[in-house]
Amino acid sequence: MHFLVVGAGFSGAVIARELAQAGHTVEVRERRPYVGGNCYTRRHGTGVMLHVHGPHIFHTDDEAVWTYIQRFAVMRPYVNRVKAVSGGRIYSLPINLHTINQFFGTTFNPSQAREFIQARADASIKDPQTFEEQALKFVGPELYRAFFAGYTAKQWGVAPSLLPASILKRLPLRFNYDDNYFAHRYQGIPEEGYTAAIERILDHPNIDLKLDVEVSPRQADSADHIFWTGPLDAWFDYAYGRLAYRTLDFETEVSQGDFQGNAVINYCDAEVPYTRITEHKHFAPWEQHSNTLIYREYSRDCGPADTPYYPVRLSSDMQRLNQYLQSATSSNGVTFAGRLGTYRYLDMDVTIREALDIATGALSAIESNQSPLPFYVNSG
Ligand code: UDP
Repeated sequence: MHFLVVGAGFSGAVIARELAQAGHTVEVRERRPYVGGNCYTRRHGTGVMLHVHGPHIFHTDDEAVWTYIQRFAVMRPYVNRVKAVSGGRIYSLPINLHTINQFFGTTFNPSQAREFIQARADASIKDPQTFEEQALKFVGPELYRAFFAGYTAKQWGVAPSLLPASILKRLPLRFNYDDNYFAHRYQGIPEEGYTAAIERILDHPNIDLKLDVEVSPRQADSADHIFWTGPLDAWFDYAYGRLAYRTLDFETEVSQGDFQGNAVINYCDAEVPYTRITEHKHFAPWEQHSNTLIYREYSRDCGPADTPYYPVRLSSDMQRLNQYLQSATSSNGVTFAGRLGTYRYLDMDVTIREALDIATGALSAIESNQSPLPFYVNSG
């Protein structure tokens, strides 16, 4: 069969590769002049590997996904250790025993710290629904105000009392000195960047890659089936209105030496307009560079001409999402995939896992002479 895959991020690339390996021909069309989606990396003039659309660190517990990515990239070990500035002082993140002792000026051991935090946490909140409730139940008011309230309001543009609790559930709270930002077994960054890895995924004789081409939604085309990794609402010409996203602006600064001594420093105070500063050469500690490049990261609402990053998923978006999902579920000839195609906050490893599952599902449908389904993941 002949397939069209729209978008050459991880989702599109992995789906295309699996279909191509199964003997089908695949045309991949990408509107940008490069592959990699928002994981796009390129060498900057300083020599530093630049994570153009913001830094990405690969982390997973999924053995098969870790094996998969290593077929296409040398994954260099990398551990994300984030620092945070709050109230004019610098702390360790995610909140761990060091953060607690730094913040409260104590020397607690793990059980003392646990007891102390439990006494501050709001036990009256039984089933936290919002980010704020989750934080107050989880760490209590002082740590919530210092590390989460300001940062979250800047990142999402709404009060934490309006955001779902699920956002905070991404972050751990540790009563030991483990300051690894991620709790996954495998963590690393591709030696030559993500774009080189995705180029290799797409490097197959059955794949025809076309860059810099806009695919208009619902373009019937000559393909037997389309895999759409563009925005779900764009496929339907925004018939029910736009799904809200946050976009990011990066202010770049180049200087000599070491700007901040770490890859990521978060700025948690509401008064500081950016959320974090990332220094890209520290994402490749195996490289040496005398110059350095930083990004100051600003978050704002995503307009029609901006790059969508984070799906907002407030209740108004979820109602709209349900309308799109209903239309999508009864669509023929298309499968929706990835962060934009399913309007979910996806880490890279989950994106690859789902793309592999989508390809498996689609291939088995084809084998039994059926059309692939619009969805192979729960997108609600
Ligand atoms: N967060 C925060 N303070 C921080 C870091 C994170 O309040 O210093 C909140 C913020 O709302 C963010 C969420 O926790 O959106 C999840 O953090 P994560 O680091 O996973 O965000 P990402 O790297 O995906 O932007």
